[in-house]
Amino acid sequence: MYYVKSTPPRRPRRGRTPLPESERKARLIQTRVDEDLDDALRDAAKQRRVTVSQLIRNVLEDTFTLVDNVVADAAALTATVKRDAKRVADAARGRVRDPLEAVEAWQEVIVGKDQVCARCGNALTRGARALLGVVADGSARPWMCLPCSTQL
Ligand SMILES: [Zn+2]
Repeated sequence: MYYVKSTPPRRPRRGRTPLPESERKARLIQTRVDEDLDDALRDAAKQRRVTVSQLIRNVLEDTFTLVDNVVADAAALTATVKRDAKRVADAARGRVRDPLEAVEAWQEVIVGKDQVCARCGNALTRGARALLGVVADGSARPWMCLPCSTQL
């Protein structure tokens, strides 16, 4: 049986040496673990020459960073699948047309939502520099990665 308890930082009691500012602002999380897990954590911490507290903090930080990256990768994958599905649907309807043909100009922009390069299919992730096609015929504005833009 485990439970997690999170408490806000405590004010230092009179007569005690106050903790450094960085540690005072951190929240304390307490949790109960069984003996086996406790032994495993102590062994792992000893091997890595860190405290059990530092080990757990590292594991938590790594886990949540990993989750963020998985979500970002999934978004890029979704964009790729959508693009491919649209191409297949267009081909099935006999509307095979190069989306780059409609472009009258290219504008360098910073990607806000994950996109896919219309030329090479590479993912363009939020914050990356890329080109966005300016079209006059109302068709979808294609995206292009910077390496592909050097071949225009
Ligand atoms: Zn490209």
